[in-house]
Amino acid sequence: MASVKKDIKTRLVHAGEPEILIEGAVALPIFQSATFSYGGQDSYHDLKYIRLNNTPNHQVLHKKLASIAGAEDAIVTASGMAAISTALMAFLNAGDHLLAQDCLYGGTHTFVAHDLPNHGVAHDFIDGNDPDSWTAKLRPETRVIYVETMTNPLLEVADLKAVVKFARENNLVSMIDNTFASPVNFRPIEMGFDLSLHSCTKYLNGHSDIVAGCVIGRGGLVDKVVHRLNHSGACLDPHACFLLHRGMKTLALRMTQQNANAVALAEFLASHEAVDQVNYPGLPDHPQYDRARDLFEGCGGVLSFEMAGDARAADEMIDRLELPISAPSLGGVETLITRPVTTSHSGLSPEERKAAGISDRLIRVAVGIEAAEDLVADFRRGLG
Ligand SMILES: *Cc1c(COP(=O)(O)O)cnc(C)c1O
Repeated sequence: MASVKKDIKTRLVHAGEPEILIEGAVALPIFQSATFSYGGQDSYHDLKYIRLNNTPNHQVLHKKLASIAGAEDAIVTASGMAAISTALMAFLNAGDHLLAQDCLYGGTHTFVAHDLPNHGVAHDFIDGNDPDSWTAKLRPETRVIYVETMTNPLLEVADLKAVVKFARENNLVSMIDNTFASPVNFRPIEMGFDLSLHSCTKYLNGHSDIVAGCVIGRGGLVDKVVHRLNHSGACLDPHACFLLHRGMKTLALRMTQQNANAVALAEFLASHEAVDQVNYPGLPDHPQYDRARDLFEGCGGVLSFEMAGDARAADEMIDRLELPISAPSLGGVETLITRPVTTSHSGLSPEERKAAGISDRLIRVAVGIEAAEDLVADFRRGLG
């Protein structure tokens, strides 16, 4: 695989696979063994043990993830939050300071705002679309800048090129949560980010049946995360590795369908008289449409919209839909729908939600791989 750089579709299937098939097995078997016979390793971190994330099931995933992301190295973790919290803890010590985007995934926001301060790590939130305002928040002890590829649920796209430039100029480690794009739609490492983090629970696994995460980046930086993780113990179980591995082989096919489904649904909703506002970076009237076109190969499966009427009207519309399942999360094969005020953003006060632009009637859809015509027909019926 190393000789010619093949397309990501090919690498998803073949990269990292054993060169000699084990007993001829086309699908890598599950190595359900906690420990492995001693092979002369002289470092604790090299002993083969499930908690050290280095069984054959882990190693194939690490090589495949690094290959599809255009990176040197990768590590899988027990969940997306394990990837995020471990990566932040690996580069932030007591006395350090962090710059983080102001509308983060809920779990990350809470970790930065409530957990890190208890360990002596300070932070400032930044507006991802106002790079001129970042310098004023920089401190001599700032170590990390942290952003997300697209925000939830309004799908804003920060000035990601400016983030890379700012990190380089100020000697910061740049981290991006790339869950909403997946490596098929966007590869931050190729653009210059130091670390790309994913909740593999979403697109990478793609079947809503495990939680998992990963950290991808330059070798030396990933090693720092690995050492942290070996001590925190948030490793991925071999059976979950197997399911993630299986899911990843079809990632490109699923992403293509989900990108197309989201465009079709967003265009339909934007044209419907009962819909006031649609948020999707693949629509020409989205404020960062040009940036998304420049950086991404697709805008993913998540969109949000507001229909005329109040929150009750929104709930009644959701009840009338036949295909979408009312559940949080995204990236699986089935379409999911939520009202963020009752799910992902229920922890925010009404004032905080207003400041973030999240209204009570906002509906979020994470499309699956169903036929676009069927999804559009279902929403047409639901909207009445
Ligand atoms: C789901 C999600 C996470 C957390 O991932 P888990 O696998 O649930 O721990 C982090 N960031 C984003 C953007 C997510 O969507």
